[in-house]
Amino acid sequence: MVFDYSTLPREFKRHYLPQGIEFEWADLNRVFGELGERSLGSEAALEKWLLDEAELDAYLYEQRTIRYFNSTRQTDNLEYAKAYEQYTELLEPKVKLAGFELLKRYASSQFRGRLPTRVYGLEDRRRRSAVSIFREENVDLEKEDSTLSQKYYRITGAMTVSFRGEERTLQQMSKFFEVPDRGVREEAWRLTTQRALGNREALDSIYSEMVALRDRIARNAGFDNFRDYTFVKKDRFDYTPHDCEIFHQAVEEAIVPLSRDIDRRRSERMGVDVLRPWDLQVDPAGREAMRPFDQVPALVSGAGKVISKVDTELSSYFQRMVDLQLLDLDSRKGKAPGGYQEELAEVRLPLIFMNAVGKDDDVRTLLHECGHSFHTFLMRKAMLPFFNGGANMPNEFSEVASMSMEIISGEHYEGAFYDREDAKRSNWKEAVDNVKLFAWVATIDAFQHWVYTHPQHTEEERANAWVATFNRFCGLESYEGLESSRAYRWHRQLHIFEVPFYYIEYGIALTGALGVWSRYRKDPKDAIEAYKSALTLGCARPLPELFEAAGVEWGFGPTALRRLAGELRSAVKEYGE
Ligand SMILES: [Zn+2]
Repeated sequence: MVFDYSTLPREFKRHYLPQGIEFEWADLNRVFGELGERSLGSEAALEKWLLDEAELDAYLYEQRTIRYFNSTRQTDNLEYAKAYEQYTELLEPKVKLAGFELLKRYASSQFRGRLPTRVYGLEDRRRRSAVSIFREENVDLEKEDSTLSQKYYRITGAMTVSFRGEERTLQQMSKFFEVPDRGVREEAWRLTTQRALGNREALDSIYSEMVALRDRIARNAGFDNFRDYTFVKKDRFDYTPHDCEIFHQAVEEAIVPLSRDIDRRRSERMGVDVLRPWDLQVDPAGREAMRPFDQVPALVSGAGKVISKVDTELSSYFQRMVDLQLLDLDSRKGKAPGGYQEELAEVRLPLIFMNAVGKDDDVRTLLHECGHSFHTFLMRKAMLPFFNGGANMPNEFSEVASMSMEIISGEHYEGAFYDREDAKRSNWKEAVDNVKLFAWVATIDAFQHWVYTHPQHTEEERANAWVATFNRFCGLESYEGLESSRAYRWHRQLHIFEVPFYYIEYGIALTGALGVWSRYRKDPKDAIEAYKSALTLGCARPLPELFEAAGVEWGFGPTALRRLAGELRSAVKEYGE
């Protein structure tokens, strides 16, 4: 199955890049060279230069995305694998370095401060911040860090177990946690956890190396610790580490009691005295897992129905994706696991990749990725004079785009995927999952705050710190006799290894998405208008303004969490009883 990108409509013409440019260093180097040497003798020249650079960025991002998409669609196609590897190993490091030279050139321009703040202000701040923390000696250290990440990925990716006569990955085992038979769930859970613990020492030592490296990177750049460095590196201009600590506290006070009430009710309904870790995914009334669709065409037509009830403009975007074959949804042999949305930045069209097998989660995943796609479509209206995608887009807001769609779409599942009972079930599960997500975000984030502000810790101290953090936010399940599986549970959260401090962004976005949902339940039209207008803004405005445009208050402290806990509590009751 080959996807032909050349057939996609090119609605945004190039003004700068040569039509025949090839994605190889000789051609790219010429463009970088021209941008590096061109005279920037006026504000107008600088603005034109930024616009041309944005065209190059969009081209680079699109070419990367095409290679990534191909390699994940067909992991068994060696040509695709090689093309993506060649990009990451050979081209990307050169592109990064050349890009940094342009960043320095921008930062030293005397006309920088004279560009209109409303348009360029935030981007200017990002660029200056990136230049200020760059250290030549960190380039190699960061490369070592990503080598360690690959090591982590290789070890965890190779973990399989043999269950019911079949070799299965740990992800594939997760479906057995939903079967009504408690014995099967326990067996599956124990096997999976045992397997993960088998690599405990290797994973612990990879992480120790990472922490030491990251601490050095931060100190090289003049920071006390890697946490404070990361806040600057990730352009977190609108909140501080202390705000995150307040969030942890607020989760403990407002969300954890709700999470434990949900577990209490779960154990009553299941008729068990003590919940165990393998009791948390199953339907508490003992029903079989939901089956919203059998084949992908039914998933697509169901999603189409749901979105058309949400909004006609969004519905036209979804139809466009269907028509242009921008959806790769079915689970096939040779396809990489997981799901994502990526932008083809030059044609400004989204792609969705996932592995649908007929589960309730698949419906939520597709609608989530549709939210990201709507963001891509709506940003076409912004036409910012610098690159709007990739790492420039803050996840604290892009996940509002996706999670909002994931949550509010549930209001229309009846008739599209489910009868009334299952539609309620799906919404109950979504509400419970979001309560648990807040608690898990706080766990993962608070743990990392401890890790990087105590970089000299021993592995034993770290395991103890994890258990203390875990117990602060966990539900009512008992780990009696399973203590070591609890102590190393974090080994399976790849974000801790691969993208440190990323997880809090989900928590912040979830407050925004729940805000959109709560507005939608009162006044759907009004809520969607605000949602859409916020999505057109791209990455040019600070987070509080993006939230405000979406019609929700910026903030993830005790006031916001108490209010959201109240709404989640009534949703759990409304859908669950
Ligand atoms: Zn997402």
